[in-house]
Amino acid sequence: MMPDRLKILNIWVDAVTRETAIEKVRSFLLRGDRPHTILASNPEKNFSVPADPVLYRVFERADLLLPDGIGMVFAARCLHGVRLKRVPGSEFIFDICRLARAEDRGVFVYGATEAVNAAACRKLTQRFAGLRIAGRSNGYVPSSEMDGLIDAINRSQAEILFVALGSPRQEKWLAEHAGRLTRVKVCQGVGGTLDTIAGTVKRAPRIWCDYNLEWLYRLLKEPKRIQRQKLLPVFAFKLLAAWASN
Ligand code: UDP
Repeated sequence: MMPDRLKILNIWVDAVTRETAIEKVRSFLLRGDRPHTILASNPEKNFSVPADPVLYRVFERADLLLPDGIGMVFAARCLHGVRLKRVPGSEFIFDICRLARAEDRGVFVYGATEAVNAAACRKLTQRFAGLRIAGRSNGYVPSSEMDGLIDAINRSQAEILFVALGSPRQEKWLAEHAGRLTRVKVCQGVGGTLDTIAGTVKRAPRIWCDYNLEWLYRLLKEPKRIQRQKLLPVFAFKLLAAWASN
């Protein structure tokens, strides 16, 4: 396990900044021996990861676990006295695209509906002129056609793969298929980020993010997220209990 990996209750988070995280991605690309996985670590995973052996294995073996939300930043401070800043996966995808353009590494974008995927790819190439999108696919490929998709990713020669199937679907996809990727050196699970890039789902305005209230904004916009967010107080309670017994 990496020395800068912090244990947070049932899961882990890496003590990285945006800068050190992108340095890691650079090193993964240089090493290039296998697909390195990048996942977001957040309070919801504290409950989903231990409940599912496949998810647990992928998560534990991930090469980079981003402090995706304020919950993990708070937890790292509380349990380890480590001051982290958020590195949201939905923003880190842009850092990776910038690096991909600078080093001319091809990118494959897999996930979301056909319209969202196409629009997100368009937006990415507009924002990062010169970025090479080597291939793309929507996220609704039936399992009978999965061999064809793996083949397409390998033939595209993409070295970076964004998997945007939501969690835990994308982690399970990586568990099952990452071993068959012959050229990919970096895979990031980006959840619903293509929807925000395409503009079909709005990210919280800056001010909400600055006050660490992005979670509240998303809850107000999508009340059905209460199912997931109701675990947040449980996480906070467990955190306090762990802190008190430290
Ligand atoms: N999705 C997909 N294939 C599926 C199911 C979902 O590509 O079989 C996509 C869906 O279109 C959306 C994303 O996965 O773009 C789900 O995002 P969600 O917000 O649920 O994920 P989170 O960011 O919360 O992990």
